[in-house]
Amino acid sequence: MAIVSSGINSSFPSKPKREAKARLVDPVSISEDVRTIKEDSLRPKSWNEFIGQSELKEVLSISVKAALSRKESLDHILLYGPPGLGKTTMALVLANELGVKCRITSAPALERPRDIMGLLLNLEPNELLFVDEIHRLTKVAEELLYPALEDFKLDLTVGKGTTARTREIELPSFTLVGATTRPASISSPLRDRFGITQRLNFYNLDELRMIVQRASDLFGLSLTNEASLEIARRCRGTPRIANRLLRRVRDYATVKNKLEFLDQSLVDESLKLHKVDQLGLDQSDRRLLLFIIEAHNGGPVGLDTLAAALGEEPATLETVVEPFLMQIGFLQRTPRGRIVTSLAIEHMNSQRSKVISN
Ligand code: ADP
Repeated sequence: MAIVSSGINSSFPSKPKREAKARLVDPVSISEDVRTIKEDSLRPKSWNEFIGQSELKEVLSISVKAALSRKESLDHILLYGPPGLGKTTMALVLANELGVKCRITSAPALERPRDIMGLLLNLEPNELLFVDEIHRLTKVAEELLYPALEDFKLDLTVGKGTTARTREIELPSFTLVGATTRPASISSPLRDRFGITQRLNFYNLDELRMIVQRASDLFGLSLTNEASLEIARRCRGTPRIANRLLRRVRDYATVKNKLEFLDQSLVDESLKLHKVDQLGLDQSDRRLLLFIIEAHNGGPVGLDTLAAALGEEPATLETVVEPFLMQIGFLQRTPRGRIVTSLAIEHMNSQRSKVISN
């Protein structure tokens, strides 16, 4: 399977730039993840290697088998869920299973009409087109995409003013896999064009342990089962973070000359250094929780107030920081604002007595 990258490079350059204060537990890929194609070397290539998301895998593998037996292109698919859970990986596995090329781009790279036209006109039969952050497509791009998705046609306007004519161009059949962290922001006409819409969920502890174990095997490391579990516990249900934590642990073990025996205490020491606690919370999470607890008596606090106080974009808080805090029951979104739970307060109190500082 060939991976064709469209746009500036395959690392989705248009994703929010957060390098200046990149967090170790940031689910969005940072340059280190992609700079040396480290992510690519760890990406599962088949369903067997793709750990977890079993129901979703079953739905998709049935659709792939059906498409292959009918010799048709696969229906368009919309994948949604927090960053780092495997949406891109899943698109690559799909292409692999279908035996077709996967062209990767992201919506902000398709801003001008000619970007999307160029992309569609260069598609090969049955090719899989992966568009990340699809909720960010412009209206013009969406309009061009509709006939392409429905009838594999492109309506081109030639000429200007009174001499303008519309020309219809046939396209090869293809499959669009759209990915988004914000499904509610997708326009409903675009949403309706997807035959399959599926959510990726956070991974459970055992799945994460297997993901860490697999990555450590690929890195040639010997991690004890407890060490894998310790990383799994701290990676916020997200494979991308699991792989990143593992790389930090490997660095630490290299410097401490302990690569031969990577155990739980080594993982603990190394992640303490990065101020990632036993639940995978880092300073940003703790600042957010502390702000609500101490400055607002537990909440509610409006998103904009929270974002201004923490120096973050509201969208970043909403899609990157909050989903995990809600998932573990630390934060609730209410119509009046964000509220921390007693679980969060307990955790923060327990952290005060530990080495990790805020
Ligand atoms: P997304 O597109 O949802 O942001 P990616 O597909 O880029 O996430 O996944 C990030 C990294 O996490 C990948 O490089 C891959 O190594 C790892 N990963 C994701 N899902 C899985 C999985 N199910 N099993 C093993 N590794 C995974």
